[in-house]
Amino acid sequence: MKTDRIRACQSCGMPMNAEEQFGTEADGTLSEDYCTYCYRDGAFTNPGITIDEMAKIGGGMMSQMYAIPLDKAEEFTKEQLSCLKRWAGRKITLCESCGMPLARDEDAGTEGDGSRSTRYCTYCYRDGGFVEPDLTREQAIGRYTPMMAAKLGMPSEKAKEMVGQYLSTLPRWRE
Ligand SMILES: [Zn+2]
Ligand SMILES: [Zn+2]
Repeated sequence: MKTDRIRACQSCGMPMNAEEQFGTEADGTLSEDYCTYCYRDGAFTNPGITIDEMAKIGGGMMSQMYAIPLDKAEEFTKEQLSCLKRWAGRKITLCESCGMPLARDEDAGTEGDGSRSTRYCTYCYRDGGFVEPDLTREQAIGRYTPMMAAKLGMPSEKAKEMVGQYLSTLPRWRE
């Protein structure tokens, strides 16, 4: 069974879309928030792990997969982790178009009536519509790839792969 949308584990950030990737509560139901590696039978599998240790593990994997210098990969991973419920203490919504965390009110876009969007950031969405409604997935990849390559010091081929993977987890870009 596939769930309706991809969710990221709120402890390690792993995208979860198949039932077997979700952790379990004490009563055997699936966890809303955590993956099976982080959370089983209603408890964290590694309750003492710190965000730095988690960033080292995740950063190490990212570094290998995408040819990113290890220190940059760890730093980036920690930045991503710090927006997750386990580490932030609350669930922070990510923009469904670009993935930016909506950590503060002013990060959120606006609806037609001036209220804050619960789904999109202010760079992607204003006055009830996308800032660039015709932007295609390919164009978005083309735009974010050089930014990622520069930020993480990685080859642009790898950055393109990473951005493409990442966008495919965001609702705006999924079929
Ligand atoms: Zn996890
Ligand atoms: Zn956005």
